[in-house]
Amino acid sequence: MAGMKDPGRAGCIFCKIVSGEIPSTKVYEDEQFLAFLDIHPQSPGHVQVVPKTHYRWIWDVPNIGQYFEVARKIAKAEQKAFSTDWILTKSVGDEISHAHIWVFPNDQVAGDKMDFTGNAAKIRAHLP
Ligand SMILES: [Zn+2]
Repeated sequence: MAGMKDPGRAGCIFCKIVSGEIPSTKVYEDEQFLAFLDIHPQSPGHVQVVPKTHYRWIWDVPNIGQYFEVARKIAKAEQKAFSTDWILTKSVGDEISHAHIWVFPNDQVAGDKMDFTGNAAKIRAHLP
């Protein structure tokens, strides 16, 4: 598809977040995946779940089942953290050329979406 090519890792903002070169507010991390708060949140606790390895699309991630298990963990934690069943999930992929899944509560939940430290702590408190 035109305009949807992968410029690669060089200059990839999510690779820099994975490496720690760019700071982020992390909510979950394991050997293969990282979940951190989006700096332009749609709602309190808006999380980006990314593979640590650079893949262009979520469909390129070989262990995609494990990837979605991580997204599920985040969604389940957000349900409790923000007292809602309604968690939105989205993957468009046009803004950043590194696979990412948005997991975020609906915008009617209480709280300040710019309170990154507080929202991350709320989510982490409900992760297994
Ligand atoms: Zn990347």
